[in-house]
Amino acid sequence: MSKVIKLKLTFLLFCMPFFANAQWVKHSFKVMGTLSQVEFWLDESTNVFDDPSNELDISHSKKAQRLIAAVEQEMFRIDRQMSPYKKQSELSLINREAANKAVIISAELFDLLKTAQHISAMSDGAFDITYASIGYQYNYREKTRPSQSSIIKALPAINYTAITLNKEQSTVHFTHQGIKIDLGGIAKGYAVKRCLSLLKNAGIKHALVSAGGDTGLLGDRHGRPWLVGIKHPRAEHKTAVNIPLENEAISTSGDYERYFIEDGIRYHHIINPKTGDSARKVVSVSVIGQDPTYVDALSTTVFVKGLVEGMALINKLPDFEAIIIDNQRRLHYSRGLQQ
Ligand code: AMP
Ligand code: MG
Repeated sequence: MSKVIKLKLTFLLFCMPFFANAQWVKHSFKVMGTLSQVEFWLDESTNVFDDPSNELDISHSKKAQRLIAAVEQEMFRIDRQMSPYKKQSELSLINREAANKAVIISAELFDLLKTAQHISAMSDGAFDITYASIGYQYNYREKTRPSQSSIIKALPAINYTAITLNKEQSTVHFTHQGIKIDLGGIAKGYAVKRCLSLLKNAGIKHALVSAGGDTGLLGDRHGRPWLVGIKHPRAEHKTAVNIPLENEAISTSGDYERYFIEDGIRYHHIINPKTGDSARKVVSVSVIGQDPTYVDALSTTVFVKGLVEGMALINKLPDFEAIIIDNQRRLHYSRGLQQ
């Protein structure tokens, strides 16, 4: 465990009253270039992992410490595997080699690529992890973007159907040169999902795990729903609306997360795969549903599709709801939220 994590955990322990038998435990940390939060209700019934040496009388604060460390480690593990910024990541390996040959990948990444492909197909390509073939030419910190001629040149490499997945061999192969993939629109939701199931397996019944705009919930907040705020898209510290939720996941995609403005035009991190330009039909999309991976990818998808097409897609999917903020800052709710 890194020194930083140890220090943070020590701090957390001091925040907890000694010998308390049941209480909320909260912790936040940075991972995947964003802030992650974990909060859960810990009581005597919580069985922290199957450890044969597990002292039955393991102290309350130690249980909290182990669970938080496990959540952190899981988030960092997924980041190491899927980050485009780490040369050693499995994702970087794919981007280096998959255009030249079939690359053997882990079952875990294989399944996530399969899910991404499914969402691409159901969204008619609005969600497309090969957006990165052009997406990597944007640098929001340095306020640089590809020229129109670079976009035109790279546009044929945005094509999710050119990702060939072979289940028996567990391989990925790009059938078009110049393809790059990026999981920024789905990996945080997946990480939230993994951490929630880790907490659930340890016996936790009430929990919140978030990574940036992706939040997953276990149960309620002890008799009350959790209240998840959707950020005001143009006022950093304000909330546009609070949504009461239990046992569900919510993901928000906004044009305010990573962007720069040039000649009055906002260039931000959600790219329309058909144009290679930022999507500008709406300013914020939140999607609610059971599966954190799906709600993450769907919020990005609906953002690209915009109000009319995006809401039509959500209204066709019985398991998902959406809240969209349009360019005039008006809120729109999917059918299931209107009752
Ligand atoms: P989110 O914050 O979940 O909406 O995801 C935004 C991230 O998704 C961006 O930072 C990119 O990494 C990635 N992304 C951008 N455009 C697309 C797209 N059209 N399809 C899939 N992923 C995308
Ligand atoms: Mg998303």
